[in-house]
Amino acid sequence: MVRRGFLKNMLGAAWTGGALLEQAVFRATQARAQSPGAPTNLFAIEKVAEGIYAAIAKPAALINCNAAIFENSSDLLVVDTHSKPSAVVALVAQLKKEVATKPVRYIVNSHFHWDHSQGTPTYRKIAPRADIVSSAATRRLLAENGAARLRATVDGARGSLDELKRKLGAAKTAEAKAHFETAISETNAYLKEMGNYAPELPNVTTDGRLVIHDKAHELHVVFSGRAHTAGDVAVFCPQKRVIATGDALHGFMPYMADGYPREWPATLRGWAKMDFAHVIPGHAAVQHSKERFMQMADYIEELTEAVAKGKEAGRSAEQLQQAIKPAALKSLTRDGYGDFLGESLSKYRFLDPGMSKADIVSGGVKENISHIHSALGRA
Ligand SMILES: [Zn+2]
Repeated sequence: MVRRGFLKNMLGAAWTGGALLEQAVFRATQARAQSPGAPTNLFAIEKVAEGIYAAIAKPAALINCNAAIFENSSDLLVVDTHSKPSAVVALVAQLKKEVATKPVRYIVNSHFHWDHSQGTPTYRKIAPRADIVSSAATRRLLAENGAARLRATVDGARGSLDELKRKLGAAKTAEAKAHFETAISETNAYLKEMGNYAPELPNVTTDGRLVIHDKAHELHVVFSGRAHTAGDVAVFCPQKRVIATGDALHGFMPYMADGYPREWPATLRGWAKMDFAHVIPGHAAVQHSKERFMQMADYIEELTEAVAKGKEAGRSAEQLQQAIKPAALKSLTRDGYGDFLGESLSKYRFLDPGMSKADIVSGGVKENISHIHSALGRA
């Protein structure tokens, strides 16, 4: 009866009757996913406005995204579903304890990436009548790439184990040892959990603006152009002045492998015209201004210009990685944006111990250069 005791502990007194299906899904997912002692406390939940909460993902070897939770009059809308089913199980249990016992009625996938969508099938099991909402482009990308991306992530995780073991062997401090041990156990748990994974596609899509009219507030799911991917949506609540932005805007370096660097800044500036005071981003901390929209847009623009110029002159991505120094990018040095990124990445990402903030940002700029170099040829 260890399992039952564990579940009871996790769910606490907030467990309500009539949720047998939920209990069954929880139990099955836990049995599959969790080795004894695996962490279930994956998020820190904070109130952002009346009835709106951010679940900020703690650093994990296999990254989880944040979730934004909008409490409607009789149900919940949750933005994004993390990297794995057990993260959804952990979050829903935490929501019951800390937010509300209302059922999940809507899921929004902000974009198609694995760390925002691989928990969706669990919501489908917990709440079979819930609507899963995304842009039309995100649904298409999930249908076309979901399985291949899952394979790539699983293969990548499996491939990383040897390197992690080597680093563990070479670790000199107790902190470094503990870090690599955690990385290995989390990676193994992820591989075990994703072994029989089946994806789930959104059943409601929009090419523009979809509005949910609830008694508590309106929720606008907004697609207004390509950015981090071809299909990013924001969820905007005009009455509470809150926006959830997925990875089009967050506190990390922009990830540009599937991005549209020529269009992304305009999409960000367009979103910034909406009337909001609080931002729940796809990663890192809640923000309380529009400042980062402008900074991220400026950074993407400046770096894209530099890479485009170099590429036109026949220079390779590797040559440009050597030539373009973070300290020379005005968008990073102005108003401490680069420092903010280094700070935020070291706090919210599961990075090897001992990396300086400058190294982290410089590594991010190098990756961006290489991604922009190939994205510039993309239609
Ligand atoms: Zn992400």
